[in-house]
Amino acid sequence: MPKYKTMFTANPPLQVVKQKYPDHEKEKTRNWYSLSQLIAQNPLTYKSVRFICEGSIVSVSTNDNWYQYTCRKCKKKLMSDTPPFECRDDGLQPEPEISYCFRAIVADDTTTTPFVFFSPNADVVPNIKCSKLVKEQGYSNPKEIPPALESIKGKRHIFQFHFNQSSKKGIVEFVFDAFLDSPRPDTGKRPTFEDLDNTNEMDIKRQKSTPIIDE
Ligand SMILES: [Zn+2]
Repeated sequence: MPKYKTMFTANPPLQVVKQKYPDHEKEKTRNWYSLSQLIAQNPLTYKSVRFICEGSIVSVSTNDNWYQYTCRKCKKKLMSDTPPFECRDDGLQPEPEISYCFRAIVADDTTTTPFVFFSPNADVVPNIKCSKLVKEQGYSNPKEIPPALESIKGKRHIFQFHFNQSSKKGIVEFVFDAFLDSPRPDTGKRPTFEDLDNTNEMDIKRQKSTPIIDE
């Protein structure tokens, strides 16, 4: 017991607000913690909790594919990267969606941590749709990082993100949700980032074979 007590005091659980604030400026302050504080935590304690940090992307991983083919209906990753494209649940997908799935290292003032970026939330990061890069601009090699993704490095942002569900204590990866830098335009019809949650979690589960942290 005394040993447990020492550990607990050294690393107490963080105070978190689970509900999203409707006000954008207030939302920017919700669960603001440094990356070093967060990676010391047990990810299982913070299922579907959004965190905020201020930092920048320092590198984009070349070990993983930066895009993937996903099902138009359920948004999950398709069973292969080459035709015929097929979804486990929805069958053949002759015109699959092309979606971001890149990994990048984010740095704040305390440490660096791997993040994974999925469409549609990730579309705002290079500010160009993934299909446009691949199909219209011809960047079809999933291992070769296109200039548009290289250019995301070094810019300061307020990141909103959550723990990747497959993170374990000591092996942590975050999933990008949004930039909260500027007031969000009133788009009316667009789904909120909370609504898109489940899609992201499913994508990650499909990628189980991928290592969580880039060496
Ligand atoms: Zn599907």
